[in-house]
Amino acid sequence: LSDRLDSVFKKFKGQGRLDENNIQQGLREVRLALLEADVNFKVVKDFTERVKERCLGQDVQKSLTPGQQVIKIVNDEMTQLLGGETQDVDLRGNPSVFMMVGLQGSGKTTSAAKLALHFRRQRKMKPYLVPADVYRPAAIDQLQTLGRQLDVPVFPSEVGMDPVDICKQGIEAAREAGCNVVLLDTAGRLQIDEKLMDELANIKDACTPNEILFVADAMIGQEAVNVAKSFDEKLDISGVILTKMDGDARGGAALSIKSVTGKSLKFVGMGEKVSDLEVFHPDRIASRILGMGDVLTLIEKAQSSIDQEEAEEIGKKFQRAEFDFEDFRTQMRRLKKLGSIEGLLKLIPGMRGLKDKIGELSVPEKDMARIEAIISSMTMEERRNPSVINPSRKARIAKGSGVAVSDVNQLVKNFEQMRKMMKKMMGGGSKGKKPRMPR
Ligand code: GDP
Ligand code: MG
Repeated sequence: LSDRLDSVFKKFKGQGRLDENNIQQGLREVRLALLEADVNFKVVKDFTERVKERCLGQDVQKSLTPGQQVIKIVNDEMTQLLGGETQDVDLRGNPSVFMMVGLQGSGKTTSAAKLALHFRRQRKMKPYLVPADVYRPAAIDQLQTLGRQLDVPVFPSEVGMDPVDICKQGIEAAREAGCNVVLLDTAGRLQIDEKLMDELANIKDACTPNEILFVADAMIGQEAVNVAKSFDEKLDISGVILTKMDGDARGGAALSIKSVTGKSLKFVGMGEKVSDLEVFHPDRIASRILGMGDVLTLIEKAQSSIDQEEAEEIGKKFQRAEFDFEDFRTQMRRLKKLGSIEGLLKLIPGMRGLKDKIGELSVPEKDMARIEAIISSMTMEERRNPSVINPSRKARIAKGSGVAVSDVNQLVKNFEQMRKMMKKMMGGGSKGKKPRMPR
């Protein structure tokens, strides 16, 4: 989907302004791309209608090209479609009870274990796992193994026990063990079946879970939406966990489930490991689907404080490793409005990879003022060409900015290192040579 949309948006490039004609044309492509990604037909229709309305009513913003404006609108609307705000889970009660439901193989058992880890790590809670899939011995074993691996207690369910009893007893046992969040892993079928639905409804009545989370396999696309609908009609689910988003799942299911069921996506499974669970952030997923997260951020920022062209200019300098102390200071002053130095790196296309590598060199904001003072005490020559900064110059700079010589040393050293790394990352980057864009 991302690639497809990418090319759609490229077409907008170079067009002078948004008019009925080019909006119509662009949206046709967006519509096709979404349908191809298995997004529900009606959802697509409503979606493109809304985008069109907004595009037409849009004042031309000086800092954005028409293409960028459309991207921004598509992204905004997609974020809305995915639920707008990030939805928190309901953690009231002691213990709070979460029930996993969904088809067989969708990732319920794995997600139960992932959530246990999530609640312990992120919420400092004490989790307890209850295997209530009593039809397959392997299902109980699977959760017990995961529990051992995480050092989370697991209720000793046995094949043949009544799932409703298991859940009730499991919650009781959790309470006695001093655990404050219980994850009920229920049975699934390959298809929706009445008997299973009744069993789940009985568990719901007996245990009044805080949340019933429908676990959906992103790989099954459109079908996930229908299944979600059936589960919701019977159980009134409270949210959705979309699993296997690490594969080449098309974003379609994520886009449709929310608008068809009205239920929010709350977590995303990003792999087989127990730590591969992310809280679902609509805006981030929207950007990921559009495949242009960083560019979008840039556009957001462009509207408020920085000039697009200037950012591109800096980006080019970065790539040629011509970035000097003067640029650095200019950017730092601007960064005070924008946030962190990481923020800046994120804005520049192709810098995502660099961001991780540069982590240890990144500057905590509290040091920014000091760094700015040091740079301000340099002469223009020193700023433009840091290699001239010898020990006596360092002493002068330190005195002028009221810091220790070691601080100046540190800054110059880090800066040189950063430049070297950029140069390496950018594939030589000597003047005149076209920089390679790592993407
Ligand atoms: P259940 O039948 O609903 O309990 O599904 P399981 O939890 O047993 O998961 C079925 C399969 O999907 C297992 O092989 C899991 O390792 C795998 N799985 C679950 N969640 C994810 C995920 O987010 N990403 C990937 N790649 N695999 C997953
Ligand atoms: Mg299972």
